[in-house]
Amino acid sequence: MSNLADNLLTVGASITKYAEHYQRKRKEIQLLAVSKRHSMQKIEEAFNLGQKSFGENYVQELLEKAQQLSHLNIEWHFIGPLQSNKTKPIAETVDWVHTIDRLKVAERLNRQRPAGLPPINVCIQVNISNEASKSGVLANNVEALATEIIKLPQLKLRGLMAIPAPQADLNKQREAFSKLTLLKHDLNKKAFQLDTLSMGMSADSEAAIAEGATIIRIGTSIFGTRK
Ligand SMILES: *Cc1c(COP(=O)(O)O)cnc(C)c1O
Repeated sequence: MSNLADNLLTVGASITKYAEHYQRKRKEIQLLAVSKRHSMQKIEEAFNLGQKSFGENYVQELLEKAQQLSHLNIEWHFIGPLQSNKTKPIAETVDWVHTIDRLKVAERLNRQRPAGLPPINVCIQVNISNEASKSGVLANNVEALATEIIKLPQLKLRGLMAIPAPQADLNKQREAFSKLTLLKHDLNKKAFQLDTLSMGMSADSEAAIAEGATIIRIGTSIFGTRK
């Protein structure tokens, strides 16, 4: 078996194991394969092994891969920082954007989404660790942005995404993720209908699953270290 096939099986098995351990439903946890800086050959191989959704961080790289791999029915997720002057090709290409952090970007994606396509699934990126350098909306400002986004017909607000500050300790990791879970819970009490928590990467996927992640974004554990 190839490395990639082996890795995909291992990652899938660990999701199943953590789901059981933390009493989560396995089918409510989606594996997003983060393929940034990995080759199209690897993406195609993973696709042929049954992995259908892929995440990319860089606009140009995503566009090239989506074009070259258009013969595959890949679900593309954009998970990197998005500048407002780059929204148009993203609106024309992806199924998901995880990193909405301001209304201007949301409005442009809404306007530029081609009419024949379904709405783009979006998450608001939350700066959950209150880091000055990190992108994302502070927790206090999420409701105001969500209120505006749900008015945009070509976007479907699915939930929240976060990249907490790296922590080695499982309980510290869980603490950060639990803040995102609580925020989603609070919003849903106010008549939002969010079903998505995009949280957890290779190094903290157990904590994310423990705290309710519905999409975990895994790169290294599937594809190996990046160039
Ligand atoms: C690179 C990246 C990942 C994957 O990280 P790994 O540690 O390689 O699993 C997940 N989410 C985002 C936003 C990323 O930029």
